Amino acid sequence: MSIIASNFKTNHTRKSTASFINEINSFLKSNEITSEVIVFPTATSLDSFSTLPNLTIGAQNAYPVEKGSFTGELGTVQLDEFSIKTILIGHSERRHVLGESQDEIAKKYDFYKSKGYKIVYCIGEPLEVKEAGLDKTLEYVYEQFDGIDVNYENLILAYEPVWAIGTGVTATNEDITSVHSAIKAKIPKPLLYGGSVKVGNVKEICALEGVDGALIGTASWDVEDFKQIIENTKDL
Ligand code: PEP
Repeated sequence: MSIIASNFKTNHTRKSTASFINEINSFLKSNEITSEVIVFPTATSLDSFSTLPNLTIGAQNAYPVEKGSFTGELGTVQLDEFSIKTILIGHSERRHVLGESQDEIAKKYDFYKSKGYKIVYCIGEPLEVKEAGLDKTLEYVYEQFDGIDVNYENLILAYEPVWAIGTGVTATNEDITSVHSAIKAKIPKPLLYGGSVKVGNVKEICALEGVDGALIGTASWDVEDFKQIIENTKDL
């Protein structure tokens, strides 16, 4: 059974998020789709949505505290208000655009693990590393597990090559299977692929050996496309 996750990044408003989530919930219900679906809205759009058990709302980011003086950040007190118990950690935009270090990511991971959150943990290499070959790619990706307890029961991994995120360039099936099989041999956890996944390629990618679903940005923001993505993968 596939896990299909949507990362809204900095898109949608409170109003459009609520309508998106309600529409996806009704779609899952009326089509009796049992895939696990996770939506990560913006922080301002989090709310107490009433959804089916297989539709989960998660936080794109939060600080490793319950509450305190951390201007611009969220803690668990704010997430608890909406019963949010799922978080995305290690996304490439937080690593490379917002400058989160592996050390900070590991602290965040440890904190949310201690609170029992479901963690979708992202790893992936930049283009120059990919161009240096598979061994270098795996070396780079394994370093992103420094300080991360990979035995955590509530862990979902997402392999997202940085060069494929938001670029329209999807990794080839061969790229995906070689990295996924290596990671899976080391860490037997659900492993999603992310990077320019869309309606037209999601089924083929999710059907690959070692791929347990997809984490999708751009192509998930349109509710009709996201429904089609769920439909295309519901039997995998
Ligand atoms: C992402 O941000 O996790 C992602 C995979 O983005 P996109 O689908 O736009 O490449």
